Amino acid sequence: MIPASQATQVRHALSVDVEDWYHDQSRGPAPATAEEIAHGGRRVADNLSRLFELFARRKTRVTLFFLADMARENPKLVRQAQVAGHEIACHGLHHRRLPQVASRQLTAELCDARRAVEDVAGIRVKGFRAPYFLDIAQLGALDSVADAGFDYDSSFMPLRWSGRAPPRLAEKPGPVRLGSGLWEIPLPLSRLPSGHELPLAAGGFALRGLPYRFFRRQLDRWADEHGPAVVYTHPWEIDPGSPKLVGTPGYVRFFNGLGRARVAARLERLLDERRFGPISDVFASWLNATPGTRESIEGAQR
Ligand SMILES: [Zn+2]
Repeated sequence: MIPASQATQVRHALSVDVEDWYHDQSRGPAPATAEEIAHGGRRVADNLSRLFELFARRKTRVTLFFLADMARENPKLVRQAQVAGHEIACHGLHHRRLPQVASRQLTAELCDARRAVEDVAGIRVKGFRAPYFLDIAQLGALDSVADAGFDYDSSFMPLRWSGRAPPRLAEKPGPVRLGSGLWEIPLPLSRLPSGHELPLAAGGFALRGLPYRFFRRQLDRWADEHGPAVVYTHPWEIDPGSPKLVGTPGYVRFFNGLGRARVAARLERLLDERRFGPISDVFASWLNATPGTRESIEGAQR
C-alpha cells in the first residue's frame, strides 16, 4: 500500500467506449432500425469531437474502445485520435452481451471486430472491452477474447449485491494474467461497510449521478489501497439531447440520463485534479511483464 498522501499522485487510466445512442440493447435483442437511427440522428462524431477537445485542453491521452462499425464509419475520428496520441482499442462487432459460454462464433466475431478496427487504424489493436462489461458468470468469454488475439481485456466489473459469495478474479483486486496469457484489467469496485461492492470510482453513472467529491474520494481510496484504476465514459454521456430507443426500460432511461448536462465539466475537473493516461501506458509494467504466475479462470471462480 502507498501512503495516503501519494494517492493523489497515482496516474489512472481513462477509457471511452465509442458507440452511439442507438447501440443500446436494453430493450431486448432487436437492433435499432434504419428509420430509428435516421430519426434520432448519428451523434457520435460530434460528441467524440467534444471529448477530444476536452482531452486536448487537459493534455490527457486516453484509451478509445471503438465498436467496429463506429471505426469503419468514422475513419477521420480514428485518425484524429491517433494524431492526438490516444490508444485505439476494440469494443466488439455487435453491441450485445457476450455469451456466457465461449464459442467459436464468439471468437470469430471478436477476430472480425479486431481486424475491422485495425484496418482503419493501421496498427495492431491490443485491448478489448465487452459491451455491458462482464460478470463472474461470463468469464468464459475471456477465452474467446484471448483466442481473438487481444493482449488485454478491461471488462470485469462484478457487482456484489448480496454481500455474499465474493466474485473475485484473484486474491487481490487489480490486473491479473489469466491462464490463456490474456491480461484482465478490471474496473474498480468500492466496498461498502455492508459488504456490498459497487463501481463508485469506475466512472459512468458514478461520475454523472453521485456527488463529485464523493466520486473523487472513492477514486483516491482505490489509489491508496490498490494503485491505478480504470475509469470509463461514453460519448453519449456528455450529450443531454441524445435520444433513447422506443421500448428502452424506464430504469435504463433514468440511470443513463442522469447528470449528462454536468458530466463534461466534471470530467474536465477530474482531469485537472488527477492524472490520467491510456490503459496500455498506465498498466505497461503489467502488460510488458514476461509470463510468470498465472491465475486460471477456474481458479478465479473458486
Ligand atoms: Zn458499450
